[in-house]
Amino acid sequence: MILEFYPNRATLTFYSTLNLLYSNIKMPIAETIAIGTELLLGEIQDTNTHFIALQLRNAGIDFYRATMLGDNPGRIAKAVKEAATRADIVITSGGLGPTVDDPTREAIALAAGVELEFHEELWNQVQDRFRRYGRKPTENNRRQAYIPRGATAITNPVGTAPAFYIEIDGCIVVSLPGVPRELETLLVDTVIPLFHDRFHLKAVLRSVVIHAATAGESQIDEWVADLETGANPTVGLLAHPGITDIRITARADSEEEANHMIAGLREEVIKRIGQSYFGDDETTLEQVVNQMLADKDMRAFILLNGFDRTFETRIEKLEPRQIFVFTSTEDNPSSPELEIARTSGYEIIIRADLFKMTDQTNLAFTFITPEEEKSITRSHGGHPELAQTWAENMLLDFIRRYLYNKNNRQE
Ligand code: ATP
Repeated sequence: MILEFYPNRATLTFYSTLNLLYSNIKMPIAETIAIGTELLLGEIQDTNTHFIALQLRNAGIDFYRATMLGDNPGRIAKAVKEAATRADIVITSGGLGPTVDDPTREAIALAAGVELEFHEELWNQVQDRFRRYGRKPTENNRRQAYIPRGATAITNPVGTAPAFYIEIDGCIVVSLPGVPRELETLLVDTVIPLFHDRFHLKAVLRSVVIHAATAGESQIDEWVADLETGANPTVGLLAHPGITDIRITARADSEEEANHMIAGLREEVIKRIGQSYFGDDETTLEQVVNQMLADKDMRAFILLNGFDRTFETRIEKLEPRQIFVFTSTEDNPSSPELEIARTSGYEIIIRADLFKMTDQTNLAFTFITPEEEKSITRSHGGHPELAQTWAENMLLDFIRRYLYNKNNRQE
């Protein structure tokens, strides 16, 4: 018998409601506007749009149109208004700097039909950032503390230009700095999660941060360069003094799938960076060294000269503690503390001096173990304010590698 199906009114209503529901669960549509006359003159390539495209694709957001414009507030405002009528998301990049020809703030205010508003907290952030680098902000930098009325600021931890987002005609317009490193950090850490919340995107995002010590960012980059071009998972580097972080981020339909995607790549990265690897995520170098010492029932004593007390504070947080740091206030500290360390049975003793010069900082240290005593010097050409953290990490990593090799010798 063939049963024929004749839909009645009730089933038809049910199906059309379902259709309506499905048509309403659509992915948001995005457009981008890359701002900068130097882009139109062919002086630089627009890599930001490429990066944004990959991130949007991973997030499951439809990307329909990319525009490129010079530093003209009127033209930018018009493009933003038009894009806002077509799209759910508009991302602008560039033009947030402190000079008059940095037009984005003004253009977005124009498109939204609002004034620019000064934000004390943004000005404080700009000043803090300059202070950290030992520089003074100019009056021009105050411009960066103005954002359109009604906009929400996005804190920029890697640069001075504060970013922001604002709603225009139901479209969320996000303005990010042009410097690729800043744009990338803000997009991945803040903006994409914001879209997830706002548009209830289905995909889950998981990431792991792998820490590498001593080998510099360019060395690590050389080791993992081919992995950095992948769209999902993505691999990105972030340099700190003496430590480079490698972040792997995967986007998938489920947490399980995302974790699975990360696991294989994580192993590959760790294999490539070899001995530089010391831990993931929240793990710190001092924790690892402290634990390695504890495992061997050993203790380390570090006598510092030319350092301030931040290293001591950092080490004091360890519990139970196997590392002891003594910061000398004398110009040339020597024997008494070292002699006490020797007679107190410390297995590793370091005497380290930090010399700050105009163009670089030198670290000279003597490394004393039951097997040998050797003198080592290293130089840091980066910002002088970062030199001490760099030196601390060098010393900790020297102990870590010594213990690592000792383990291998014993096996
Ligand atoms: P800042 O305050 O740091 O100057 P900004 O938002 O004003 O940031 P721009 O002045 O527009 O950014 O650009 C700063 C630099 O960033 C440019 O000189 C260029 O090197 C780079 N840049 C800008 N836009 C792009 C882009 N679309 N793709 C790649 N690099 C870009």
